[in-house]
Amino acid sequence: MAEKKRIVVVGGGVAGTCVAKSFDTDSYKLTFIDPKDFFEVPYARLRCIVEPKFAQRSIMKHSEYLKKGTFLQTSATGVSGQELITASGERVAFDFLVIGTGTTFSGPTTKEEMLKFYQAETQNIQAAETVLIIGGGPVGVELAGEVATDFPNKKVTLVHGGERLLEFLGPKASTKALKWLQSKKVTVVLNDRIDSEGLAGPHYVTKKGIAIQADAHFVCVGKRVGSSWLRGSDLENVLDKEGRLMVDRNMRVQGYSYVFALGDVCDTNEIKQGYLATKQAAVVIENMKKHIKDPYTAKLTEYKPATTPFAIVSLGRNLGLMQMPLGTLVGRLPGMLKSKDLFVGSSRKALGLSG
Ligand SMILES: Cc1cc2nc3c(=O)[nH]c(=O)nc-3n(C[C@H](O)[C@H](O)[C@H](O)COP(=O)(O)OP(=O)(O)OC[C@H]3O[C@@H](n4cnc5c(N)ncnc54)[C@H](O)[C@@H]3O)c2cc1C
Repeated sequence: MAEKKRIVVVGGGVAGTCVAKSFDTDSYKLTFIDPKDFFEVPYARLRCIVEPKFAQRSIMKHSEYLKKGTFLQTSATGVSGQELITASGERVAFDFLVIGTGTTFSGPTTKEEMLKFYQAETQNIQAAETVLIIGGGPVGVELAGEVATDFPNKKVTLVHGGERLLEFLGPKASTKALKWLQSKKVTVVLNDRIDSEGLAGPHYVTKKGIAIQADAHFVCVGKRVGSSWLRGSDLENVLDKEGRLMVDRNMRVQGYSYVFALGDVCDTNEIKQGYLATKQAAVVIENMKKHIKDPYTAKLTEYKPATTPFAIVSLGRNLGLMQMPLGTLVGRLPGMLKSKDLFVGSSRKALGLSG
């Protein structure tokens, strides 16, 4: 009988969990590496800040859905030849390596700590009369929507450095998001900044000199690509200027037939979205299986990056903003698609979990 292939998957986000789940069978020797003991549905994070019990479902311990493979709760620190090196000192040999380390990770590393973190965040908002949100990308806008919906009496101010909110979408989506937030009495300050380093309230001043009083603040600015751990290792030369791993049309890291990368850490030419990470995962899984079956002549599947941005931004519990190829829509339909359950049920189902 042929030796089981050794598959190492690094990163327990949307991308990595999809791939790990697929190779978690008796046919492969899977090692799965993540600094947290859980997968969290990222789309649900902002709801958890206003409703901590939501996190009971949106956070799933890796041990709940992985049954056969080995899970190492640690960070990857480098790759040398066909070995993955970890912060806790392991050197894990692999036949295939899959990298899905998304954006930089920080914060609680156990489900229990994460639940406590959300409880503290909710209490923080409950105790505040005024809330400051820094950043008007999807995270800042969704958080402002959650707070304005669940706590309509709080005075919320959102400060954004760009000319418009949600710059990853078209101008119509930005205008609709702005109008909706203003209708909820959120004060939106555009083209201005608050330095997020060493912030301490309750008195804040923007770069242009606007004074803002806030009892609680949230920094919602973009995170860096999670690839710094590859600096100084064999794969450093395949990072692009932004630190993204350059992949070929088959989702393999350029020049490496046995290393795949996907999700926010890879350089596919499209917006970075979780639903695209799952599409990439399907291609990665298919290509790895084809390669294992027929290493020399297998015709690998090509990944086709999305050409038109499709995205839904939730606006509180029932409403949402959807950008489709043909236009943008604010209202209950996008709300039904995303805002109610924030894809928690479908994410659980994809990992074989009920509820
Ligand atoms: C509030 C919010 C709402 C969103 N809404 C949507 C939406 O509606 N639809 C949509 O499609 N997308 C949405 N997105 C974007 C989507 O969440 C991301 O595109 C997606 O999470 C990317 O998945 P990923 O697995 O590549 O990276 P991540 O989710 O960033 O996961 C990376 C994983 O790698 C791990 N990791 C990092 N460094 C290391 C290391 N050195 N060693 C080991 N492990 C490591 C981390 O612990 C983490 O588990 C939203 C994002 C946010 C924040």
